[in-house]
Amino acid sequence: MPTVYNWQLGRPMSYPYEESHPSWQFAFVFNINRCIACQTCTMACKSTWTFSRGQEYMFWNNVETKPFGGYPHNWDAKLLNMLEQANPGGQKWRAVDPTHEAPYGRFDGKTIFEAVQNHYDKQGPKRALGYLPTDDEWNAPNRHEETATGELGLHGDWGGSAQLPEHRVWYFYLQRLCNHCTYPGCLAACPRGAIYKRPEDGIVLIDQSRCHGYRKCVEACPYKKAMYRTTTQTSEKCVGCYPRIEGRDPLISPNGEPAETRCMTSCPGRIRLQGLVQVDSNGKWKADRWNPLYYLIRERRIALPLYPQFGTEPNGYYIPPRWVPRPYLIQMFGPGVEHAIEQYACPDRDLLAVLQLFRTTQQIIFRYEVEKGPKVAEIEITMPDGSLRTQEIYNDTVIGYNRFNVEVVRTTVEEPTFERPAELHVNSI
Ligand code: SF4
Ligand code: SF4
Repeated sequence: MPTVYNWQLGRPMSYPYEESHPSWQFAFVFNINRCIACQTCTMACKSTWTFSRGQEYMFWNNVETKPFGGYPHNWDAKLLNMLEQANPGGQKWRAVDPTHEAPYGRFDGKTIFEAVQNHYDKQGPKRALGYLPTDDEWNAPNRHEETATGELGLHGDWGGSAQLPEHRVWYFYLQRLCNHCTYPGCLAACPRGAIYKRPEDGIVLIDQSRCHGYRKCVEACPYKKAMYRTTTQTSEKCVGCYPRIEGRDPLISPNGEPAETRCMTSCPGRIRLQGLVQVDSNGKWKADRWNPLYYLIRERRIALPLYPQFGTEPNGYYIPPRWVPRPYLIQMFGPGVEHAIEQYACPDRDLLAVLQLFRTTQQIIFRYEVEKGPKVAEIEITMPDGSLRTQEIYNDTVIGYNRFNVEVVRTTVEEPTFERPAELHVNSI
C-alpha cells in the first residue's frame, strides 16, 4: 500500500491511494460547549437533501448525546473495539513536542487502513476495517437523548455533581456530519471508483451513475456517514451543500460568493463556523493566520478532530466540552484536549475576537481583521488545574471578508445593548 502523511497522527500511514490533494479543503469548527441540541441543523439538512422515498432514515447531519447516544447505535464504541482487537493494547499516543507536522503527538496504534493489511475477503484485499450496521442500529436516531452518566457523591447524593473542572454527572451533545476526510475510508473501499474528492474544495461525493450499491463505503466509513438507499439501490452521503460552496444560491450569493452549508447557517446556538482552507500539493495546510479556521485549528489548536486515530484525517474540528472527564475526551479527540480546554477557559484577546465570528454571516469568511477597542473588564478565572488567571476583555471589533475581499460582517466583542425609554414603554424594567 502507498504511504501518505497524516498530520493529525503525526506520522506517515498506509492508504490505498497515493497523495493527491485539492487546492482548497472544506472544513468546519463546532463549539460543543454552546450546542443546545435543538436539531435545527438536522432538520435544515433533512428538508434540503433527504426528504424523498428511501431516504427516511437518512440523517446526513445528526446530533447525538454522548456517552450513550449514537447514530447508528454505538457506531464509535463498535469500531474502537474492533481496532483494539486488531491491535490489543497498542492503540496508544506518544507525547512529542508539538510541531506543525505533529501538533497533537504521535499515534503509534493502527488506523482502519493499517488494521486490515494482509486481510482478504471474497473481493480481494480488504481496504479498511469496518462493519455494516444492522437495520435495528439505524432505528431511533436520537436514542439516549440527554441521558447522563456519573456517580453519587461521597454522601450518597447528587449534590455538587456539576462543578468544574469536571462534572461528576455529565453528558454532552456531539454534532456530526461527513468530515470530507483527507483520506476517506469510503473512497478507499469503493470497488467501482464511484467516490471522488473534488479538486476545488475537497468535498467527497458519490457518483450516482457509477455506484452499484455494494455498500463498501457504508462498511468502511468509520463515522458511518455513507448510507444505502433501497429505492435507488445506491449509496448516498452528505454533499457539503456544494451548490452553496460554489456560490450558486442567487439570494445569498448574488455575485457568486461561496456560502456556508444549510446545517451551519441555521444554527441558533451559534456553535458552527465553516469555511475553506488552502492546501498545497503535499496536503499541507498553507499558513494563513487571518483565515479564522486556520487560526482556530492550526495556530491555536483549540478545535480538535473527531477520533483522529481512525486515520481518515477528518476535516471537522471540535472545541471540546469543558465539563467532561478528560479520559473520555482524550479517547475521542486525542491528546490535544487539555491544551484546547485551557485556551477556551480563558481566551486571550485575539481568540475572543475570532470566537465572535461564529454564525454572523451566511457567506464564507476567508479573512478577518481586528480593530482594537478599549478595555472593558477584568475577570478572575479558575483554570482547569485550579490556578487563578485574570482575563482582560477588550471591546475589539472583528471584521470578516468573503472570497472577493468584500466586508461581510463587522461585530464587536461586547454585544450592543439598547435601553428603551421608560416613558414610551410601560413594560420597561
Ligand atoms: S442547530 Fe446548532 S445548537 Fe442546534 S443542535 Fe444543531 S449544532 Fe446544536
Ligand atoms: S466521513 Fe465517512 S463518508 Fe465522509 S469522507 Fe470521511 S469516510 Fe467518507
